[in-house]
Amino acid sequence: MSDYKLWIDGKATEGASNLDVVNPATEKVFASIARSDTALADKAIASAKAAQKIWAKTAIADRQVALNKIADALNANADKIARVLTQEQGKPIAEASAEVMYTEAFIRYFATMDLPVEVLQDDDAKRVELYRKPLGVVACIIPWNFPLLIIAFKVPLALLAGNSCVIKPSPTTPLTAALFAEICADILPAGVINTVNDDNDLGGYLTQHADVAKVSFTGSTETGKKVMASAANTLKRLTLELGGNDPAIVLPDVNVAETAAKMYGAAFMNCGQVCLALKRAYVHESIYDEMCDELAKLAKAAIVGDGLEQGTQIGPLNNKMQYEKVKGFLENAKKAGKVIAGGELPDGPGYFIPPTIVRDVKDGDEIVDEEQFGPIMPVIKYTDSDDIIGSANGVDVGLGGSVWSKDIAKAKEIALQVESGTVWINTHLDFGPNIPFGGAKQSGIGVEFAQEGLNEFTQVQVINQAK
Ligand code: NAD
Repeated sequence: MSDYKLWIDGKATEGASNLDVVNPATEKVFASIARSDTALADKAIASAKAAQKIWAKTAIADRQVALNKIADALNANADKIARVLTQEQGKPIAEASAEVMYTEAFIRYFATMDLPVEVLQDDDAKRVELYRKPLGVVACIIPWNFPLLIIAFKVPLALLAGNSCVIKPSPTTPLTAALFAEICADILPAGVINTVNDDNDLGGYLTQHADVAKVSFTGSTETGKKVMASAANTLKRLTLELGGNDPAIVLPDVNVAETAAKMYGAAFMNCGQVCLALKRAYVHESIYDEMCDELAKLAKAAIVGDGLEQGTQIGPLNNKMQYEKVKGFLENAKKAGKVIAGGELPDGPGYFIPPTIVRDVKDGDEIVDEEQFGPIMPVIKYTDSDDIIGSANGVDVGLGGSVWSKDIAKAKEIALQVESGTVWINTHLDFGPNIPFGGAKQSGIGVEFAQEGLNEFTQVQVINQAK
């Protein structure tokens, strides 16, 4: 018997085996969850397929009501969910509570959205109407950095459009997904939401499955490419939200202390495990030393520890694999540049790496070119003669980026040249359900949120009537 179950056809279901879930702050197993095999994955997809036919016939107003009920239930269970989230993911409890709150807010916003029929032409010759119909079963594949919030990026819009969902969480953070599915089981018709829990072995099974109409995937660029290849056999619809390596371009006219504080927050939230985190800071030579010192001051003052302890600001990395990867980045960063804060690992247990600032690094160094997805911030000096746009655009990915200056016209001129889905001015990592979010280049395909995001869960049908 596992502590947490699969959710298939509205029922808590035992697995083919169980998966242990480790608390990254203690490295100890603290819960077990039912794990799927291909037969259980088939069952989840079949249940979603049957339920979708019924769900698609409900009025959109009823779907909106259902979404609000899910938001209410999240609100009522917020403390319990936040605690489980901290235990499985590692983030400080305040960030976990904020994630639950954002999840609720995103769902409430999506519940206000609609898919009206558009009349494209209505004259003596013809009437042409555009309908947006559901696609069928949507596989929602979730990473481990925001295991609850990223469910809310996908599932509510999929449901609003009349689809059903199979949620596949990451193996290291499946518990909040199970709590979410349990909430849905009380509110939605049986089978509209189902879960598949794996140990990184069933994602490909879902993405090639003939009864899955769409894959909404968030994860690494490497896995995204596998998803795209595997979805090709049935020409599935795809939304891919992948990795990033967001640059920040800091012009000489900023208030250094204020800007440092904002940049620090955007780099180290969730221990740097954020797709849209600030991952490379390009700072003008005239303020470079001062900026490095301010960032180092903030990093040195951070309270690192178990997320369940009040006051913790930086928790552990989520899992051993990521911890080892970031440790490798740290070792190479020490050789490439100068570590001016952090850099030393505390004695175990726990996958802890303190917030680390490394200066005197340059393009071509691993810590600048690669997505670190951890608490290390490289600060790169540029001069007026450097091609700063070329540096910002010099990687294969393009998720976000930011420009920092008092001169908004100048900042906008630079922002428009950055090849990424979002560019912020004087902020970074700001997003919302009303703002389309997606990646350029190898950061993804398609967008989430807003009407553009909702449309991605639909099939266009044109009714063209002669008069
Ligand atoms: P990952 O790609 O390793 O895993 C993501 C999900 O894909 C997990 O559920 C995993 O089990 C599943 N998966 C593994 N192999 C699969 C396969 N062959 N087919 C289908 N699914 C498969 O990513 P991760 O390590 O969990 O997350 C970190 C990465 O995600 C970072 O690169 C980060 O930038 C990115 N990310 C992007 C966004 C965004 O919105 N763009 C948001 C969060 C994270």
